[in-house]
Amino acid sequence: MEQTVESILIYGAAIILCVVVIVIYLRKKTKESRLVDEKIKIAKEEGLHEPVSLHPYVDVNSCIQTGACIAACPEKDILGIRNGKATIINASRCIGHGACFHACPTEAITLRIGTEKRGVELPHVSQNFETNVPGIFIAGELGGMGLIKNAVEQGRQAVENIIKTFNKNHNADYDLIIIGAGPAGISGTLTAKKHGLKYLLLEQDTLGGTVFTFPRKKIIMTSPMDLPLYGKIKLFETSKSELLDLWHTVLNKNGIIVSENSKVESILSESGIFKVTTIKDEQFTSARVLLAIGRRGTPRKLNVPGEMKEKVAYRLLEPEEISGKHIIVVGGGDSAIESALLLADQNHVILSYRNEVFSRIKPLNNIALNKAVAEGKLELKLKSNLLSIEDETIRLSVNDNGEAIELQNDLVYIFAGGELPTQFLEKAGIKITKKFGETVMKH
Ligand SMILES: Cc1cc2nc3c(=O)[nH]c(=O)nc-3n(C[C@H](O)[C@H](O)[C@H](O)COP(=O)(O)OP(=O)(O)OC[C@H]3O[C@@H](n4cnc5c(N)ncnc54)[C@H](O)[C@@H]3O)c2cc1C
Ligand code: SF4
Repeated sequence: MEQTVESILIYGAAIILCVVVIVIYLRKKTKESRLVDEKIKIAKEEGLHEPVSLHPYVDVNSCIQTGACIAACPEKDILGIRNGKATIINASRCIGHGACFHACPTEAITLRIGTEKRGVELPHVSQNFETNVPGIFIAGELGGMGLIKNAVEQGRQAVENIIKTFNKNHNADYDLIIIGAGPAGISGTLTAKKHGLKYLLLEQDTLGGTVFTFPRKKIIMTSPMDLPLYGKIKLFETSKSELLDLWHTVLNKNGIIVSENSKVESILSESGIFKVTTIKDEQFTSARVLLAIGRRGTPRKLNVPGEMKEKVAYRLLEPEEISGKHIIVVGGGDSAIESALLLADQNHVILSYRNEVFSRIKPLNNIALNKAVAEGKLELKLKSNLLSIEDETIRLSVNDNGEAIELQNDLVYIFAGGELPTQFLEKAGIKITKKFGETVMKH
């Protein structure tokens, strides 16, 4: 009898313990789900929930909520666990590492491009990287696959394929013109140099491509890759400066010059050769063209006098390094507002927008902007237009009558949107199709 009571007590205690553990576990999971719901709500408000390009797709029937995908993803809050399944939070921030894809023990994740609702425009590229226009090739992110390693690999492969079918008997200025000096263009140019091609590397901005625009402190996740004329780059984690230094060193060592500030405006095919025209109205002819222009497009210009001056920029790098300046930020989108706010504490900042009200900006930016204006940290000039840029001043029209004022100025930041590469490609005859949720990486 005594033994039975003892057993009942032991089993009872064990059951209570189990119930307590299960209740604690379920409460923890419910709390986590609620947190993820909250993050999804914010992501939707900020327009980050819908994927813009590559993103993970979770097969909920195979997901057993190990959380391995979340732990593996080097970016923050792209995935979360909700109601026992992995789910997308900030899908538009995914840069396609595929770490989640490899980490999932049940192979519940595939990588897709575009969604059923929101297609992604991609150019036609064959397996040897040639487009539907014979002689024009594409490498790197423009073709749909992100990541530095992929861009480096594709740049090399594309030029090797060009060489295989290439006949030096032509009367063009160059064998190959490479457009874009990001990782794909750099690797393509090094391959061209290695194989003795007569080449030209044209870049609308400066060396480095998208990597140049990364914040200084960003950790760049990558994996070992072969860089032509250099060898194996044995890096898993690196920084912007380390990568840019490496590229500068390799290009210098091989006497490769990047023609910077040379945006290519058009490519025309004429009797088997290509006529490439830049923004500076320079014209070059080439037997082959490699497009390594990424997918970020070109910042739109205002076309006002003085816009070519060095103090004018179309993106904000290292805002913490800028202080005590008179700055005008032009634009009415989130990038303009976020940049103006980042600069406002240490500088005299004017935010100029041509319309009367801001539309379609993130609610949190709206709140932060109103606060900064109310506190006198930032001067807002609505219905204003930048008319011209001088070395130490700018002229701004400030009302419907065209009344203009002159203001002291050291720096100008313009955020007037961008021209997507799509129009540029179509002008060159390259066919584009929209991908609606196409799987690009599956087990
Ligand atoms: C926020 C963010 C974080 C990322 N983090 C990582 C990471 O940690 N690891 C990783 O591997 N990848 C990362 N990526 C992705 C990586 O940066 C890109 O996949 C890679 O840079 C693509 O290389 P690319 O050479 O194809 O294009 P890009 O690097 O975009 O280079 C294209 C170049 O072409 C130039 N260009 C464009 N149009 C013209 C024109 N008409 N005329 C002349 N030049 C032109 C551009 O100015 C640019 O320099 C990240 C991307 C972003 C946006
Ligand atoms: S593909 Fe990369 S960035 Fe995108 S969710 Fe997976 S691990 Fe994160």
